Amino acid sequence: MTHICYEINIITIILPYEPLKMSQYDTEKFCQPPDPDLICCICQCVLQSPVESPCRHVFCNVCITTWLNNHRNCPTCRRRVKKRQLKPVLPIVQNMINRLLMFCDFKDNGCAETVMLEIYVNHVEGCGYRKLKCRFNRCDKMILKKDKDQHENQVCEFREKLCIGRCGLMIPVCVYDTHDCYEELQKFNQGISLI
Ligand SMILES: [Zn+2]
Ligand SMILES: [Zn+2]
Ligand SMILES: [Zn+2]
Ligand SMILES: [Zn+2]
Ligand SMILES: [Zn+2]
Repeated sequence: MTHICYEINIITIILPYEPLKMSQYDTEKFCQPPDPDLICCICQCVLQSPVESPCRHVFCNVCITTWLNNHRNCPTCRRRVKKRQLKPVLPIVQNMINRLLMFCDFKDNGCAETVMLEIYVNHVEGCGYRKLKCRFNRCDKMILKKDKDQHENQVCEFREKLCIGRCGLMIPVCVYDTHDCYEELQKFNQGISLI
Protein backbone atom coordinates (compact mmCIF):
# COMPACT_ATOMS: atom_id res chain seq x y z
CA MET A 1 0.00 0.00 0.00
CA THR A 2 2.88 2.36 0.75
CA HIS A 3 4.00 1.91 -2.81
CA ILE A 4 0.64 2.97 -4.25
CA CYS A 5 0.52 6.11 -2.06
CA TYR A 6 3.96 7.01 -3.26
CA GLU A 7 2.90 6.78 -6.89
CA ILE A 8 -0.15 8.92 -6.33
CA ASN A 9 2.05 11.55 -4.69
CA ILE A 10 4.34 11.64 -7.69
CA ILE A 11 1.45 12.09 -10.09
CA THR A 12 -0.25 14.87 -8.14
CA ILE A 13 2.92 16.75 -7.31
CA ILE A 14 5.00 16.41 -10.46
CA LEU A 15 2.47 16.67 -13.28
CA PRO A 16 1.19 20.23 -12.76
CA TYR A 17 4.72 21.54 -13.15
CA GLU A 18 5.65 19.51 -16.19
CA PRO A 19 6.64 21.94 -18.95
CA LEU A 20 5.14 21.84 -22.41
CA LYS A 21 6.82 19.41 -24.74
CA MET A 22 10.37 20.67 -25.10
CA SER A 23 12.20 21.34 -28.30
CA GLN A 24 15.41 19.39 -28.68
CA TYR A 25 17.08 22.69 -29.51
CA ASP A 26 17.90 23.99 -26.06
CA THR A 27 19.85 27.25 -26.43
CA GLU A 28 22.76 25.79 -24.46
CA LYS A 29 23.39 23.36 -27.31
CA PHE A 30 24.37 26.24 -29.64
CA CYS A 31 27.92 27.51 -30.10
CA GLN A 32 26.76 31.15 -30.14
CA PRO A 33 23.73 32.45 -28.25
CA PRO A 34 21.01 32.23 -30.94
CA ASP A 35 19.31 35.40 -32.21
CA PRO A 36 16.31 36.10 -29.90
CA ASP A 37 14.08 36.20 -33.01
CA LEU A 38 14.82 32.51 -33.52
CA ILE A 39 13.71 31.53 -30.00
CA CYS A 40 10.22 30.24 -29.25
CA CYS A 41 8.72 32.21 -26.34
CA ILE A 42 6.82 29.15 -25.13
CA CYS A 43 9.65 26.62 -24.76
CA GLN A 44 12.56 29.12 -24.78
CA CYS A 45 14.41 26.93 -27.28
CA VAL A 46 15.41 27.51 -30.89
CA LEU A 47 12.33 27.22 -33.11
CA GLN A 48 11.48 23.73 -34.31
CA SER A 49 9.16 23.50 -37.36
CA PRO A 50 8.27 27.17 -36.82
CA VAL A 51 4.88 28.60 -37.68
CA GLU A 52 3.66 32.20 -37.73
CA SER A 53 0.44 33.58 -36.30
CA PRO A 54 -1.60 36.32 -38.06
CA CYS A 55 -0.12 38.76 -35.50
CA ARG A 56 3.35 37.90 -36.91
CA HIS A 57 4.58 36.03 -33.84
CA VAL A 58 6.55 32.85 -34.40
CA PHE A 59 6.53 29.61 -32.37
CA CYS A 60 7.45 25.96 -32.69
CA ASN A 61 4.54 24.19 -34.33
CA VAL A 62 4.14 21.76 -31.42
CA CYS A 63 4.34 24.53 -28.79
CA ILE A 64 1.69 26.83 -30.27
CA THR A 65 -0.59 23.93 -31.19
CA THR A 66 -0.45 22.65 -27.61
CA TRP A 67 -1.01 26.18 -26.30
CA LEU A 68 -4.07 26.70 -28.53
CA ASN A 69 -5.62 23.49 -27.17
CA ASN A 70 -6.19 25.42 -23.94
CA HIS A 71 -6.10 29.08 -25.00
CA ARG A 72 -7.61 31.20 -27.73
CA ASN A 73 -4.97 33.87 -28.00
CA CYS A 74 -1.36 34.50 -28.91
CA PRO A 75 0.91 33.93 -25.89
CA THR A 76 3.00 36.98 -26.88
CA CYS A 77 0.47 39.71 -27.70
CA ARG A 78 -2.80 38.12 -26.46
CA ARG A 79 -4.58 38.71 -29.77
CA ARG A 80 -7.10 36.07 -30.79
CA VAL A 81 -5.60 33.25 -32.84
CA LYS A 82 -7.06 30.05 -34.28
CA LYS A 83 -5.02 26.99 -35.19
CA ARG A 84 -6.04 27.16 -38.84
CA GLN A 85 -4.58 30.68 -39.09
CA LEU A 86 -1.05 29.43 -38.38
CA LYS A 87 1.27 29.44 -41.38
CA PRO A 88 4.78 28.08 -41.95
CA VAL A 89 7.45 30.76 -41.65
CA LEU A 90 9.28 32.13 -44.70
CA PRO A 91 12.01 29.80 -46.00
CA ILE A 92 14.65 32.40 -45.14
CA VAL A 93 13.86 32.00 -41.43
CA GLN A 94 14.13 28.22 -41.63
CA ASN A 95 17.43 28.61 -43.51
CA MET A 96 18.83 30.82 -40.76
CA ILE A 97 17.84 28.19 -38.21
CA ASN A 98 19.30 25.35 -40.28
CA ARG A 99 22.68 27.04 -40.39
CA LEU A 100 23.07 27.60 -36.64
CA LEU A 101 26.06 25.75 -35.25
CA MET A 102 25.46 23.29 -32.45
CA PHE A 103 27.63 21.28 -30.09
CA CYS A 104 27.32 17.54 -30.29
CA ASP A 105 25.24 15.86 -27.52
CA PHE A 106 28.33 13.79 -26.75
CA LYS A 107 30.63 16.74 -26.16
CA ASP A 108 31.22 15.55 -22.61
CA ASN A 109 32.34 12.16 -23.96
CA GLY A 110 34.97 13.91 -26.08
CA CYS A 111 33.27 14.86 -29.37
CA ALA A 112 34.73 18.24 -30.35
CA GLU A 113 32.63 18.62 -33.50
CA THR A 114 30.24 21.47 -34.07
CA VAL A 115 27.54 20.81 -36.62
CA MET A 116 24.88 22.82 -38.41
CA LEU A 117 21.39 22.27 -37.02
CA GLU A 118 20.22 20.70 -40.27
CA ILE A 119 22.62 17.77 -39.85
CA TYR A 120 22.63 17.69 -36.05
CA VAL A 121 20.24 14.73 -35.69
CA ASN A 122 22.22 12.69 -38.25
CA HIS A 123 25.50 13.52 -36.58
CA VAL A 124 24.32 12.61 -33.09
CA GLU A 125 22.89 9.29 -34.32
CA GLY A 126 26.18 8.28 -35.92
CA CYS A 127 28.58 10.00 -33.52
CA GLY A 128 31.58 7.88 -32.48
CA TYR A 129 31.43 9.37 -28.99
CA ARG A 130 28.03 7.86 -28.20
CA LYS A 131 28.42 5.16 -25.53
CA LEU A 132 27.16 1.67 -26.31
CA LYS A 133 27.03 -1.52 -24.30
CA CYS A 134 29.63 -4.15 -25.04
CA ARG A 135 28.06 -6.98 -27.07
CA PHE A 136 29.12 -9.66 -24.58
CA ASN A 137 26.35 -10.09 -22.01
CA ARG A 138 28.69 -10.73 -19.11
CA CYS A 139 30.58 -7.49 -19.72
CA ASP A 140 28.87 -4.46 -18.20
CA LYS A 141 31.17 -1.88 -19.79
CA MET A 142 29.83 1.03 -21.82
CA ILE A 143 32.20 1.70 -24.70
CA LEU A 144 32.50 4.71 -27.02
CA LYS A 145 31.08 3.66 -30.40
CA LYS A 146 34.40 4.44 -32.10
CA ASP A 147 36.27 2.06 -29.73
CA LYS A 148 33.65 -0.69 -29.63
CA ASP A 149 35.14 -3.00 -32.29
CA GLN A 150 38.58 -2.79 -30.74
CA HIS A 151 37.20 -3.45 -27.26
CA GLU A 152 35.16 -6.45 -28.37
CA ASN A 153 37.91 -7.95 -30.53
CA GLN A 154 41.05 -7.17 -28.56
CA VAL A 155 40.33 -5.88 -25.05
CA CYS A 156 37.16 -7.31 -23.50
CA GLU A 157 37.84 -10.07 -20.99
CA PHE A 158 34.62 -11.75 -22.12
CA ARG A 159 35.57 -11.91 -25.81
CA GLU A 160 35.77 -15.50 -26.94
CA LYS A 161 38.60 -17.52 -28.37
CA LEU A 162 38.35 -20.90 -30.08
CA CYS A 163 39.77 -23.63 -27.84
CA ILE A 164 42.53 -25.50 -29.62
CA GLY A 165 42.28 -28.27 -27.01
CA ARG A 166 39.74 -31.07 -26.88
CA CYS A 167 36.47 -29.13 -26.56
CA GLY A 168 36.91 -26.96 -29.64
CA LEU A 169 34.37 -24.48 -28.22
CA MET A 170 34.44 -20.70 -28.07
CA ILE A 171 35.76 -19.91 -24.58
CA PRO A 172 35.86 -16.44 -22.93
CA VAL A 173 39.50 -15.35 -22.71
CA CYS A 174 39.24 -14.65 -18.96
CA VAL A 175 38.77 -18.40 -18.32
CA TYR A 176 40.57 -19.73 -21.38
CA ASP A 177 43.73 -20.86 -19.58
CA THR A 178 41.88 -22.45 -16.67
CA HIS A 179 38.86 -24.03 -18.37
CA ASP A 180 38.34 -27.77 -18.34
CA CYS A 181 37.51 -29.00 -21.86
CA TYR A 182 35.59 -31.98 -20.54
CA GLU A 183 33.42 -29.86 -18.23
CA GLU A 184 32.77 -27.34 -20.98
CA LEU A 185 31.66 -30.09 -23.34
CA GLN A 186 29.31 -31.44 -20.69
CA LYS A 187 27.82 -27.99 -20.14
CA PHE A 188 27.58 -27.48 -23.88
CA ASN A 189 25.67 -30.73 -24.30
CA GLN A 190 23.29 -29.71 -21.52
CA GLY A 191 22.76 -26.38 -23.24
CA ILE A 192 24.19 -24.39 -20.36
CA SER A 193 26.07 -21.20 -21.10
CA LEU A 194 29.83 -21.42 -20.97
CA ILE A 195 30.60 -19.42 -17.86
ZN1 LIG B 1 8.75 26.08 -28.72
ZN1 LIG C 1 0.89 37.74 -31.26
ZN1 LIG D 1 29.57 13.98 -31.96
ZN1 LIG E 1 33.34 -5.95 -23.00
ZN1 LIG F 1 38.63 -26.49 -24.36
